[in-house]
Amino acid sequence: MNTPYSHTQDVPRKRIAILGSTGSIGTQALEVIALHEEHFEVEVLTANRNADLLIQQAMRFKPNAVVIAERSLAPQVKAALEPLHIKVYSGEAAVASIVEMETIDLVLTALVGYSGLLPTIRAIEAGKTIALANKETLVVAGDLVTRLAREKGVNIFPIDSEHSAIFQCITGEFHNRIEKVILTASGGPFRGKTREELESVTCAEALKHPNWNMGSKVTIDSATLMNKGLEAIEAKWLFGLEPSQVEVVVHPQSIIHSMVQFEDGSIKAQMSLPDMRLPIQFALAYPVRLKADFPRFDISRYPSLTFEQPDTKTFRNLALAFEALNRGGNMPCVLNAANEVAVRCFLEQKIGFLRMPDVVEQCLTKMDYIKNPRFEDYMETDRKTRIKALELIN
Ligand code: MG
Repeated sequence: MNTPYSHTQDVPRKRIAILGSTGSIGTQALEVIALHEEHFEVEVLTANRNADLLIQQAMRFKPNAVVIAERSLAPQVKAALEPLHIKVYSGEAAVASIVEMETIDLVLTALVGYSGLLPTIRAIEAGKTIALANKETLVVAGDLVTRLAREKGVNIFPIDSEHSAIFQCITGEFHNRIEKVILTASGGPFRGKTREELESVTCAEALKHPNWNMGSKVTIDSATLMNKGLEAIEAKWLFGLEPSQVEVVVHPQSIIHSMVQFEDGSIKAQMSLPDMRLPIQFALAYPVRLKADFPRFDISRYPSLTFEQPDTKTFRNLALAFEALNRGGNMPCVLNAANEVAVRCFLEQKIGFLRMPDVVEQCLTKMDYIKNPRFEDYMETDRKTRIKALELIN
């Protein structure tokens, strides 16, 4: 077939900015880039406070500029990188403004939580292609972000493995309507446990995910099933779905990363071993599938792939996320802010595992509903919900 991409070496190198380069997704994105340096070039790296790793990465990948969000670490980073003619900026505002740099083609947003929202908006406004690993951006302000992307003609390519799976299933099917998507969930480390058993689980136990090795926020969210709830909201915005078109099924082996059912009843699934480098590479290289030697799924080693219904009575966060999704407006933003506070307090061992959904539920009940929020309304909702969640905890 004669497509413009039949010879991938003809495609110019994509110049990439990675926001959050020292985290789990950021470091794996750099692994992918290292495998394909003929296709990708690192233009910008940003980190929150891991100055040592940022310096190491910059020395290896020679970006044009780096940002360290924590200002007090700027002198250390400057001392190391300015002699190499790498520009060094600091502060959170610099993270949001660096994405406008003319030489960037694609911005990979791997920031954690609400902090990803503003830089993503700025990158879209500047017309950059987005590879989105920060699901909270679409949870908090999905209508605003997707509307802006449409206006600017900007593509948002998902990196979350479930959404990458859906994207891979609909590639080549863009003119065909989706009847529903089926998001798969591993069930996390506590699948099958009762509420009584969950009463006393520790932070260390919750941080041990059976299939995926990820950052602490998303790992706790996986243990409470909030992660799947956030992903349901993310799916709605990425693929223009109604809440009723998003289904969740527990699939403990994490081989099928999600499925799409079309209007003729056919279901497509995307399968592979759980390895985030695959969805990262698909998003960076789209529409090309680059050759990679990531470990292969060996079907003979998996005599059965199983599916079960999620237990939303025990793992209430999933039901609460669907409630927020159905109510719409600023409720997903409330859900996210309450959850971010609850997860942080759980990680700091201030509250127990079962208290997390309590905090989220109470915030959903107590915060004012705004049907059509503007950007300022989201900022206010986020701020006020965090205060409310902390009041409830303390
Ligand atoms: Mg995911």
